[in-house]
Amino acid sequence: MRQRIVAGNWKMNTTLEEGLQLAGDVAKDYIKNRPGDIELIMAPPFTHISELVKATAGSGVKYAAQNCASEKEGAYTGEVSVAMIRTTGATYVIIGHSERRTLFGEKDETLFKKVRLALEESLVPIFCCGELLEEREAGNHFEVVKKQLDNTLFRLDEVDFRKVIIAYEPVWAIGTGKTATPEQAQEMQAAIRKMIAERYDEETANDIPILYGGSCKASNAAEIFAQPDVDGGLIGGASLMADEFMSIARSF
Ligand code: PEP
Repeated sequence: MRQRIVAGNWKMNTTLEEGLQLAGDVAKDYIKNRPGDIELIMAPPFTHISELVKATAGSGVKYAAQNCASEKEGAYTGEVSVAMIRTTGATYVIIGHSERRTLFGEKDETLFKKVRLALEESLVPIFCCGELLEEREAGNHFEVVKKQLDNTLFRLDEVDFRKVIIAYEPVWAIGTGKTATPEQAQEMQAAIRKMIAERYDEETANDIPILYGGSCKASNAAEIFAQPDVDGGLIGGASLMADEFMSIARSF
């Protein structure tokens, strides 16, 4: 069975103090209620990760960075390398979030470099893909996602590809309160699995976790997670409230 995963992307929210409180509340709940067999991941700002890892040690909660540099090291002021992320205790890194693509102009070639560096550093990439509203309205959404994957993850060999997690995040659903219907999420995620089978093989396609992201919350998570090709969620806004986030984690 594929690993079920709930990951919270805090984006540029929380002071360190607030982050310690939030991560502490999540970890406490996770220890007490252990929602069956899921990997629980939090992606706080870079500046918090080390402290939060220490504060929640032994809880089983895992950490992700929200981004990484596309170069290994050197004169790149303000950037954070995969090696630096590794030393914080994070074991995952989100790559290609739509906010990075649209607000910071990150292109597929850059994202591919980040994926390769992350894998070299033994970080698991949580790779985001998804179409814009106009692309869906024009009926191009499958093509758009296929191109995003062809240009990045599908350039990996099978051994490396098997180490990644995919997050399907329709851009029109991120932070908008407008969730994809469970059928829309299922349709795209089944299509992604088919693309993987065509590029690699059925077994690989069946083993890769594919998360849904986009205005997922406690009130809609259960019906989205019930879809056969949805293996969990990448949660933005709703991951900033421990109770809400943990209700989502219990929605399988
Ligand atoms: C995200 O940022 O990955 C996300 C899914 O955000 P939200 O849940 O707030 O739509």
